[in-house]
Amino acid sequence: MSYYSGMKPYDLILLDADGTLFDFDAAAEAAFRGTAAEFSLAPHAAGGGAASVDELFARYRVINHGIWAELERGEIDKESLKAERFRRLFAEFGIGADPAAFSARFLVLLSEGAQVLPGALDFVRALHAAGKHLSIVTNGISAVQRGRFARSPFGGLISDLFISEELGAEKPAPAFFAEAFRRLGRSESEKAGAVVVGDSWSADILGAVGFGLDAVWFNPAGKAAPSAIPPAVSDARGYQAVLDRVLAGDRGLPED
Ligand SMILES: [Mg+2]
Repeated sequence: MSYYSGMKPYDLILLDADGTLFDFDAAAEAAFRGTAAEFSLAPHAAGGGAASVDELFARYRVINHGIWAELERGEIDKESLKAERFRRLFAEFGIGADPAAFSARFLVLLSEGAQVLPGALDFVRALHAAGKHLSIVTNGISAVQRGRFARSPFGGLISDLFISEELGAEKPAPAFFAEAFRRLGRSESEKAGAVVVGDSWSADILGAVGFGLDAVWFNPAGKAAPSAIPPAVSDARGYQAVLDRVLAGDRGLPED
């Protein structure tokens, strides 16, 4: 019995986007700063204190994180979320700018932010060279994610872009992955050939496990898992470790 017996080859790799391939934090910060400059938000907004753009962005991140959690709990819808986060921010700082107009411009700039993480392109090229079918599975706003993907170097390597706003469900809901499988023309009996790679324990890893898929936790910072690591999940400290894991089954195939 070979060392690799029991390892199964994967033919479909479902890749999370933000924090796994894309540097979303960098994209969001650039878009926020750009929009703030256009709207003359800082350093001294009309009627408000002398908040710097650094302070505004730091507070925006907290508000944004909270409002996406509200979305996951079904307390707000995606369309309302877009401007509401800026309405809350402006209210805190006494800023008179129009949240809807600010949001619209922010999303345009954000859709142009295609900063990728160091090593991500080589990682995707290696998967593509191994003959894998690559799909992105991401939560987020369709126009933003499609714009960023179009400006990224991943075109021609990654076949599909599955975005929660288009699929009608958010990771970690099983309905998200079920709809992606449906669009791929894969039956749910073909789950064994697919693996999810992502940096979010709650969205990617628990989402994959909840739908019955294997997963690799992209965990370059070496964080402790928030809960016991299920047998179907591997903890990978970087892209090479992900490749070692998802390509491992290939080496176990008989050569004849
Ligand atoms: Mg992510």
